[in-house]
Amino acid sequence: MAFQPDYVFDGEPPIGETWEVAPGVYWLRMPLPFKLDHINLWMLEDGDGWTLVDTGINTDETRAAWDRVFDGRLGGKPVKRVIVTHFHPDHVGLAGWLCERFDVPLWMPYSEWATGRMLSRDTVEIAGPIFHAFYKAAGFGDDRLSIIDQRVGRYGNNISPIPAAVRRIAHGEEIEIGGRAWRVIEGNGHSPEHACLFCADLKVLISGDQILPKISPNVSVWPQEPHADPLGIFLDSLKRFTDLPADTLVLPSHNWPFRGLLERLDDLASHHVERLDESVAACVSHEAEGGATGADVLGHLFKRELDTHQMFFALGESVAHLHHLMTLGRVLREIDADGVYRFRSTAGAA
Ligand SMILES: [Zn+2]
Repeated sequence: MAFQPDYVFDGEPPIGETWEVAPGVYWLRMPLPFKLDHINLWMLEDGDGWTLVDTGINTDETRAAWDRVFDGRLGGKPVKRVIVTHFHPDHVGLAGWLCERFDVPLWMPYSEWATGRMLSRDTVEIAGPIFHAFYKAAGFGDDRLSIIDQRVGRYGNNISPIPAAVRRIAHGEEIEIGGRAWRVIEGNGHSPEHACLFCADLKVLISGDQILPKISPNVSVWPQEPHADPLGIFLDSLKRFTDLPADTLVLPSHNWPFRGLLERLDDLASHHVERLDESVAACVSHEAEGGATGADVLGHLFKRELDTHQMFFALGESVAHLHHLMTLGRVLREIDADGVYRFRSTAGAA
Protein backbone atom coordinates (compact mmCIF):
# COMPACT_ATOMS: atom_id res chain seq x y z
CA MET A 1 0.00 0.00 0.00
CA ALA A 2 1.17 3.51 -0.76
CA PHE A 3 2.72 5.46 2.07
CA GLN A 4 0.27 7.58 4.05
CA PRO A 5 2.09 10.36 5.89
CA ASP A 6 0.74 11.29 9.29
CA TYR A 7 0.42 15.05 8.89
CA VAL A 8 0.73 16.45 12.36
CA PHE A 9 -0.86 19.89 11.95
CA ASP A 10 -4.17 21.01 10.64
CA GLY A 11 -3.44 23.24 7.64
CA GLU A 12 -0.48 25.54 7.33
CA PRO A 13 0.58 29.02 8.47
CA PRO A 14 -0.54 31.83 6.15
CA ILE A 15 2.30 33.54 4.25
CA GLY A 16 4.15 35.92 6.56
CA GLU A 17 2.98 34.15 9.74
CA THR A 18 4.71 31.52 11.84
CA TRP A 19 3.48 28.46 13.73
CA GLU A 20 5.41 26.84 16.58
CA VAL A 21 5.74 23.15 15.64
CA ALA A 22 8.09 22.08 18.46
CA PRO A 23 9.50 24.03 21.43
CA GLY A 24 11.36 26.98 19.93
CA VAL A 25 10.91 25.73 16.35
CA TYR A 26 8.70 27.80 14.06
CA TRP A 27 7.30 26.99 10.63
CA LEU A 28 6.94 29.62 7.87
CA ARG A 29 5.68 29.14 4.36
CA MET A 30 6.88 31.29 1.47
CA PRO A 31 5.42 31.52 -2.04
CA LEU A 32 7.15 30.06 -5.12
CA PRO A 33 6.30 31.09 -8.69
CA PHE A 34 6.22 27.46 -9.87
CA LYS A 35 3.79 24.58 -10.05
CA LEU A 36 5.20 23.62 -6.65
CA ASP A 37 3.93 26.90 -5.22
CA HIS A 38 5.44 27.08 -1.73
CA ILE A 39 8.48 26.29 0.37
CA ASN A 40 8.63 25.68 4.12
CA LEU A 41 11.28 27.52 6.11
CA TRP A 42 12.18 27.20 9.76
CA MET A 43 13.09 29.67 12.51
CA LEU A 44 14.80 28.41 15.64
CA GLU A 45 14.88 30.36 18.90
CA ASP A 46 18.54 30.91 19.61
CA GLY A 47 19.02 32.61 22.99
CA ASP A 48 18.82 36.33 22.43
CA GLY A 49 18.14 35.94 18.71
CA TRP A 50 17.13 33.58 15.93
CA THR A 51 18.69 31.04 13.63
CA LEU A 52 16.97 30.80 10.25
CA VAL A 53 16.99 27.61 8.19
CA ASP A 54 16.52 28.27 4.46
CA THR A 55 15.38 31.54 2.98
CA GLY A 56 12.95 31.40 0.02
CA ILE A 57 13.37 32.52 -3.55
CA ASN A 58 14.39 36.09 -4.41
CA THR A 59 11.08 37.76 -5.29
CA ASP A 60 9.40 40.94 -4.07
CA GLU A 61 6.64 38.77 -2.64
CA THR A 62 9.01 36.70 -0.49
CA ARG A 63 10.91 39.76 0.71
CA ALA A 64 7.61 41.39 1.68
CA ALA A 65 6.63 38.23 3.58
CA TRP A 66 9.96 38.28 5.44
CA ASP A 67 9.29 41.90 6.37
CA ARG A 68 6.02 40.82 7.97
CA VAL A 69 7.90 38.11 9.89
CA PHE A 70 10.49 40.63 11.09
CA ASP A 71 7.67 42.87 12.35
CA GLY A 72 5.90 39.97 14.02
CA ARG A 73 7.55 36.82 15.29
CA LEU A 74 11.12 38.07 15.49
CA GLY A 75 9.88 40.27 18.34
CA GLY A 76 12.70 42.72 17.91
CA LYS A 77 15.29 39.97 18.42
CA PRO A 78 17.97 39.80 15.75
CA VAL A 79 18.80 37.02 13.34
CA LYS A 80 22.13 35.52 14.48
CA ARG A 81 22.88 33.25 11.54
CA VAL A 82 21.36 31.84 8.38
CA ILE A 83 21.70 28.10 7.75
CA VAL A 84 20.99 26.89 4.21
CA THR A 85 20.41 23.22 3.44
CA HIS A 86 21.45 23.29 -0.22
CA PHE A 87 22.08 25.49 -3.24
CA HIS A 88 18.67 25.40 -4.96
CA PRO A 89 17.21 28.91 -5.45
CA ASP A 90 14.14 28.36 -3.27
CA HIS A 91 16.48 27.55 -0.36
CA VAL A 92 19.43 29.91 -0.81
CA GLY A 93 17.58 32.63 -2.76
CA LEU A 94 17.46 35.27 -0.04
CA ALA A 95 20.50 34.17 1.99
CA GLY A 96 22.60 37.05 0.70
CA TRP A 97 19.82 39.55 1.39
CA LEU A 98 19.25 38.21 4.91
CA CYS A 99 22.94 37.91 5.83
CA GLU A 100 23.56 41.45 4.68
CA ARG A 101 20.50 42.83 6.40
CA PHE A 102 21.48 41.37 9.79
CA ASP A 103 25.22 41.35 9.18
CA VAL A 104 25.45 37.64 10.02
CA PRO A 105 27.28 34.67 8.52
CA LEU A 106 25.94 32.08 6.12
CA TRP A 107 26.26 28.49 7.39
CA MET A 108 26.10 25.95 4.58
CA PRO A 109 27.81 22.79 3.33
CA TYR A 110 30.89 23.92 1.45
CA SER A 111 30.11 22.25 -1.87
CA GLU A 112 26.54 23.58 -1.78
CA TRP A 113 27.84 27.10 -1.27
CA ALA A 114 30.49 26.66 -3.96
CA THR A 115 28.01 25.17 -6.43
CA GLY A 116 25.65 28.09 -5.97
CA ARG A 117 28.46 30.60 -6.38
CA MET A 118 29.68 28.77 -9.49
CA LEU A 119 26.26 28.57 -11.15
CA SER A 120 25.70 32.27 -10.41
CA ARG A 121 28.56 32.99 -12.75
CA ASP A 122 27.66 30.60 -15.58
CA THR A 123 26.67 32.07 -18.92
CA VAL A 124 25.50 30.58 -22.21
CA GLU A 125 29.05 31.06 -23.54
CA ILE A 126 30.58 29.13 -20.63
CA ALA A 127 28.04 26.35 -20.10
CA GLY A 128 26.02 26.20 -23.32
CA PRO A 129 28.25 23.63 -25.06
CA ILE A 130 28.10 21.09 -22.22
CA PHE A 131 24.31 21.45 -22.05
CA HIS A 132 23.99 20.80 -25.79
CA ALA A 133 26.34 17.83 -25.67
CA PHE A 134 24.54 16.26 -22.70
CA TYR A 135 20.97 16.60 -23.98
CA LYS A 136 21.92 15.54 -27.49
CA ALA A 137 23.63 12.40 -26.16
CA ALA A 138 20.51 11.73 -24.07
CA GLY A 139 18.38 11.65 -27.21
CA PHE A 140 16.63 15.03 -27.25
CA GLY A 141 15.66 16.15 -30.77
CA ASP A 142 16.32 19.50 -32.43
CA ASP A 143 13.05 20.99 -31.13
CA ARG A 144 14.22 20.61 -27.53
CA LEU A 145 17.88 21.29 -28.22
CA SER A 146 16.88 24.63 -29.78
CA ILE A 147 15.54 25.94 -26.45
CA ILE A 148 18.50 24.90 -24.32
CA ASP A 149 20.20 28.27 -24.42
CA GLN A 150 17.18 29.77 -22.67
CA ARG A 151 17.86 27.43 -19.74
CA VAL A 152 21.56 28.07 -19.29
CA GLY A 153 22.96 30.73 -16.98
CA ARG A 154 19.57 31.45 -15.40
CA TYR A 155 20.40 30.40 -11.85
CA GLY A 156 21.41 33.88 -10.71
CA ASN A 157 18.04 35.34 -11.73
CA ASN A 158 16.23 33.85 -8.75
CA ILE A 159 18.71 34.58 -5.99
CA SER A 160 20.24 37.53 -4.23
CA PRO A 161 24.04 37.28 -4.57
CA ILE A 162 25.30 34.45 -2.35
CA PRO A 163 27.69 35.75 0.35
CA ALA A 164 31.32 35.57 -0.72
CA ALA A 165 32.29 33.80 2.52
CA VAL A 166 30.79 30.77 4.22
CA ARG A 167 30.90 28.98 7.57
CA ARG A 168 31.07 25.35 6.47
CA ILE A 169 28.77 22.76 8.04
CA ALA A 170 29.49 19.07 7.52
CA HIS A 171 28.06 15.60 8.18
CA GLY A 172 28.12 14.60 11.86
CA GLU A 173 28.75 18.11 13.16
CA GLU A 174 26.62 19.20 16.09
CA ILE A 175 25.44 22.79 15.97
CA GLU A 176 24.26 24.30 19.24
CA ILE A 177 21.12 26.34 18.70
CA GLY A 178 19.25 27.78 21.68
CA GLY A 179 20.94 25.34 24.08
CA ARG A 180 20.08 22.27 22.01
CA ALA A 181 22.32 20.19 19.76
CA TRP A 182 21.29 19.82 16.12
CA ARG A 183 23.28 17.19 14.23
CA VAL A 184 24.02 17.62 10.54
CA ILE A 185 23.04 14.59 8.46
CA GLU A 186 24.26 14.83 4.89
CA GLY A 187 22.06 13.66 2.05
CA ASN A 188 23.29 13.20 -1.52
CA GLY A 189 21.79 12.83 -4.96
CA HIS A 190 19.21 15.62 -4.87
CA SER A 191 22.08 18.07 -4.49
CA PRO A 192 25.78 17.51 -3.74
CA GLU A 193 25.88 17.59 0.09
CA HIS A 194 22.41 18.53 1.25
CA ALA A 195 22.34 19.26 5.00
CA CYS A 196 19.52 17.90 7.13
CA LEU A 197 19.40 18.85 10.82
CA PHE A 198 18.35 16.46 13.58
CA CYS A 199 17.68 17.44 17.18
CA ALA A 200 17.62 14.31 19.40
CA ASP A 201 16.24 16.35 22.31
CA LEU A 202 13.16 17.35 20.40
CA LYS A 203 13.08 14.34 18.05
CA VAL A 204 12.79 16.78 15.16
CA LEU A 205 14.38 16.37 11.73
CA ILE A 206 14.61 19.32 9.35
CA SER A 207 14.76 17.20 6.21
CA GLY A 208 14.92 19.88 3.49
CA ASP A 209 14.30 18.34 0.07
CA GLN A 210 16.06 15.07 0.93
CA ILE A 211 12.94 13.48 2.45
CA LEU A 212 9.54 14.83 1.41
CA PRO A 213 6.20 13.28 2.40
CA LYS A 214 4.38 13.37 -0.92
CA ILE A 215 6.70 13.86 -3.86
CA SER A 216 9.89 11.95 -4.44
CA PRO A 217 12.81 14.42 -4.48
CA ASN A 218 14.25 15.19 -7.88
CA VAL A 219 17.32 13.04 -8.41
CA SER A 220 18.80 13.89 -11.78
CA VAL A 221 21.92 13.65 -13.85
CA TRP A 222 22.89 17.18 -14.95
CA PRO A 223 25.20 18.35 -17.75
CA GLN A 224 27.85 19.47 -15.24
CA GLU A 225 28.45 15.86 -14.15
CA PRO A 226 27.18 13.86 -17.12
CA HIS A 227 28.39 10.40 -16.05
CA ALA A 228 27.28 10.56 -12.42
CA ASP A 229 25.13 8.04 -10.56
CA PRO A 230 23.12 10.40 -8.31
CA LEU A 231 20.44 7.79 -7.62
CA GLY A 232 23.08 5.45 -6.19
CA ILE A 233 24.32 8.05 -3.73
CA PHE A 234 20.76 9.20 -2.97
CA LEU A 235 19.67 5.68 -1.98
CA ASP A 236 22.87 5.16 0.00
CA SER A 237 22.43 8.40 1.89
CA LEU A 238 18.86 7.51 2.90
CA LYS A 239 20.42 4.79 5.08
CA ARG A 240 21.84 7.53 7.32
CA PHE A 241 18.32 8.26 8.55
CA THR A 242 17.17 4.75 9.40
CA ASP A 243 18.44 4.86 13.00
CA LEU A 244 16.44 7.96 13.88
CA PRO A 245 13.47 7.46 16.26
CA ALA A 246 10.34 6.12 14.56
CA ASP A 247 8.25 8.96 15.99
CA THR A 248 10.57 11.72 14.71
CA LEU A 249 8.69 14.82 13.60
CA VAL A 250 9.91 15.47 10.04
CA LEU A 251 9.96 19.06 8.82
CA PRO A 252 10.22 18.91 5.01
CA SER A 253 10.70 21.83 2.61
CA HIS A 254 7.50 21.07 0.71
CA ASN A 255 4.04 19.90 1.70
CA TRP A 256 3.49 19.48 5.47
CA PRO A 257 5.32 18.29 8.62
CA PHE A 258 4.71 14.61 9.17
CA ARG A 259 5.48 11.49 11.15
CA GLY A 260 6.27 8.14 9.55
CA LEU A 261 9.94 8.73 8.68
CA LEU A 262 10.98 5.07 8.56
CA GLU A 263 7.99 4.10 6.42
CA ARG A 264 8.73 7.01 4.10
CA LEU A 265 12.36 5.87 3.72
CA ASP A 266 11.17 2.37 2.74
CA ASP A 267 8.60 3.89 0.42
CA LEU A 268 11.18 6.06 -1.37
CA ALA A 269 13.51 3.09 -1.83
CA SER A 270 10.75 0.86 -3.21
CA HIS A 271 9.53 3.65 -5.50
CA HIS A 272 12.96 3.71 -7.12
CA VAL A 273 13.12 -0.10 -7.33
CA GLU A 274 9.91 0.06 -9.38
CA ARG A 275 11.24 2.88 -11.56
CA LEU A 276 14.44 0.93 -12.16
CA ASP A 277 12.41 -2.11 -13.28
CA GLU A 278 10.33 0.08 -15.59
CA SER A 279 13.53 1.55 -17.04
CA VAL A 280 14.89 -1.92 -17.83
CA ALA A 281 11.57 -2.80 -19.49
CA ALA A 282 11.88 0.38 -21.58
CA CYS A 283 15.38 -0.68 -22.67
CA VAL A 284 14.08 -4.10 -23.67
CA SER A 285 11.24 -2.58 -25.71
CA HIS A 286 13.78 -0.52 -27.69
CA GLU A 287 16.12 -3.46 -28.26
CA ALA A 288 15.49 -3.42 -32.03
CA GLU A 289 16.86 0.14 -32.26
CA GLY A 290 20.02 -0.87 -30.43
CA GLY A 291 18.64 0.12 -27.04
CA ALA A 292 16.71 2.95 -25.41
CA THR A 293 17.90 6.54 -25.18
CA GLY A 294 17.34 8.70 -22.10
CA ALA A 295 14.51 10.42 -23.97
CA ASP A 296 12.95 7.02 -24.79
CA VAL A 297 13.00 6.04 -21.13
CA LEU A 298 11.47 9.40 -20.21
CA GLY A 299 8.50 8.51 -22.42
CA HIS A 300 8.03 5.27 -20.47
CA LEU A 301 8.50 6.68 -16.98
CA PHE A 302 6.48 9.89 -17.37
CA LYS A 303 3.09 9.28 -18.94
CA ARG A 304 1.58 12.62 -17.93
CA GLU A 305 1.81 15.86 -19.90
CA LEU A 306 5.03 17.71 -19.00
CA ASP A 307 5.81 21.38 -19.54
CA THR A 308 9.23 22.35 -20.88
CA HIS A 309 10.72 22.87 -17.43
CA GLN A 310 9.44 19.51 -16.19
CA MET A 311 10.67 17.84 -19.39
CA PHE A 312 14.29 18.69 -18.57
CA PHE A 313 13.94 17.47 -14.98
CA ALA A 314 12.27 14.28 -16.20
CA LEU A 315 15.10 13.65 -18.65
CA GLY A 316 17.65 14.05 -15.85
CA GLU A 317 15.70 11.59 -13.71
CA SER A 318 15.44 9.08 -16.54
CA VAL A 319 19.19 9.21 -17.14
CA ALA A 320 19.73 8.88 -13.37
CA HIS A 321 17.83 5.60 -13.39
CA LEU A 322 19.81 4.36 -16.40
CA HIS A 323 23.14 5.27 -14.82
CA HIS A 324 22.22 3.49 -11.61
CA LEU A 325 21.24 0.43 -13.63
CA MET A 326 24.72 0.57 -15.17
CA THR A 327 26.23 0.61 -11.67
CA LEU A 328 24.09 -2.42 -10.83
CA GLY A 329 25.20 -4.20 -14.03
CA ARG A 330 21.61 -4.44 -15.28
CA VAL A 331 22.10 -2.35 -18.41
CA LEU A 332 25.02 -1.45 -20.61
CA ARG A 333 25.56 1.69 -22.61
CA GLU A 334 26.85 2.20 -26.12
CA ILE A 335 27.14 5.30 -28.21
CA ASP A 336 25.48 5.12 -31.63
CA ALA A 337 26.54 6.62 -34.96
CA ASP A 338 24.70 9.87 -34.13
CA GLY A 339 26.52 10.28 -30.83
CA VAL A 340 23.47 9.25 -28.76
CA TYR A 341 23.80 6.87 -25.80
CA ARG A 342 21.73 3.70 -26.08
CA PHE A 343 21.08 1.47 -23.11
CA ARG A 344 20.42 -2.28 -23.38
CA SER A 345 19.38 -4.78 -20.75
CA THR A 346 22.10 -7.25 -19.80
CA ALA A 347 19.52 -9.87 -18.81
CA GLY A 348 19.81 -12.82 -21.15
CA ALA A 349 22.97 -11.37 -22.73
CA ALA A 350 25.77 -13.85 -23.26
ZN1 LIG B 1 16.19 21.19 -3.77
